[in-house]
Amino acid sequence: MKRISRRKGPLKPEQRQSAGEIRKLGACLRCKLLKKVCDKDEPCTGCQPSHARLWQVPCTRLDVTEIGYFLKDWNVDRHMPYGSSIVNIRGFGYQERSLYVTHGYGYHMAILGREVFVHDERVFGLDWVETLIDGPREFDVVTAKLSAGKDGVSRKMVSEYVDLHLNSGFDKFVASYFEGTPFLTELLMSINRYYVATKQANIGKGLRLVIAYALTLHITLISGLSGEEAEVGKITDLTSRFCGDTCAPVMINFQVKDAMASLWRDLMKECLKELSALYSSAYKGDKVKNYPSIFMQSALILSVWEMMQFDCHYRDPDEVNKFCNDMEHVPIGVTIGLFGVISTKLPTFLEWDTEKHGQVWQGNAPVCDTLTEVRSHIKKHGTLIQATWVSRLIRCRGIPSNP
Ligand SMILES: [Zn+2]
Ligand SMILES: [Zn+2]
Repeated sequence: MKRISRRKGPLKPEQRQSAGEIRKLGACLRCKLLKKVCDKDEPCTGCQPSHARLWQVPCTRLDVTEIGYFLKDWNVDRHMPYGSSIVNIRGFGYQERSLYVTHGYGYHMAILGREVFVHDERVFGLDWVETLIDGPREFDVVTAKLSAGKDGVSRKMVSEYVDLHLNSGFDKFVASYFEGTPFLTELLMSINRYYVATKQANIGKGLRLVIAYALTLHITLISGLSGEEAEVGKITDLTSRFCGDTCAPVMINFQVKDAMASLWRDLMKECLKELSALYSSAYKGDKVKNYPSIFMQSALILSVWEMMQFDCHYRDPDEVNKFCNDMEHVPIGVTIGLFGVISTKLPTFLEWDTEKHGQVWQGNAPVCDTLTEVRSHIKKHGTLIQATWVSRLIRCRGIPSNP
């Protein structure tokens, strides 16, 4: 390997100028990680194919922590229900009472609710889409005239509620929520088993991110109402998987969604920070050591991006196209490409054999078990997982086309 020779003496004026420009522009990801000198070209000289045969990562001056930039214009999850803006609200009732909000996976948030008075009552209608056997279907109900109390829906409460889904029933939640995508379901369960065995904080954040995102775009249900009250907002359509439950009042639904949305956005930032830290440490020393964590962290981030792409299908096509293009070039290219680079010397997922390769991680049981499980998921679902990004992440490890 070539070493960069240490500079002797001061830079020449033109060198000084170009160094200053690069500093302003920022070195690209490759040059930063490999500690190479970057230049102003796009792509930079180091990233051009003649130099970087194995470096299949777009040349970008964004850091790994910044590749979520495309999320800032995405507001599908904050879509305000019709007429729930402040101008429509005439006032609130004085009395606050406990209501139990749930997404239907066995956990509740106790929040205080109060009556709300509005100018235009059409605001209380709620609609949502469910994916049924014969395709997506839209449902709607008119919900109760209630809003959260004056303290709103706290971030702390929402965060603890997400933790319940992680710590006391993750498999049940995943099996039900991701029904229909068996590979992802099993992969998430394997990552969770790794988390249970190691309590590794970065993977915990990734799992929370998946839950918080999944719940943000999910309708909320409510209990704690009298029989008569529960009739308002009750889902009576037999084809809905929530038939018999009562929808949370529109305003509470929105308040919960809004708190959940800011939680998953913060978790996304933290997960990208964790991923960036894993790569920096991999390039400072041992690439192999961080490989399992990088794989899991990347898979969790990609599965959320995949869900987002699915969730924007019902929106304006121009907005969707822009969003998907922004996401697919740099963010996906970097996430999948960087992983490909650090894994070139390791066995592919399908080749994994603990007896043969376990010593790479000193026989670390959670790592070996996870890789063994991933191998069996790929064997089982090989042909079903072709189109997803998580599968591209796995395939960039050179899985034969016919596993
Ligand atoms: Zn560069
Ligand atoms: Zn570059």
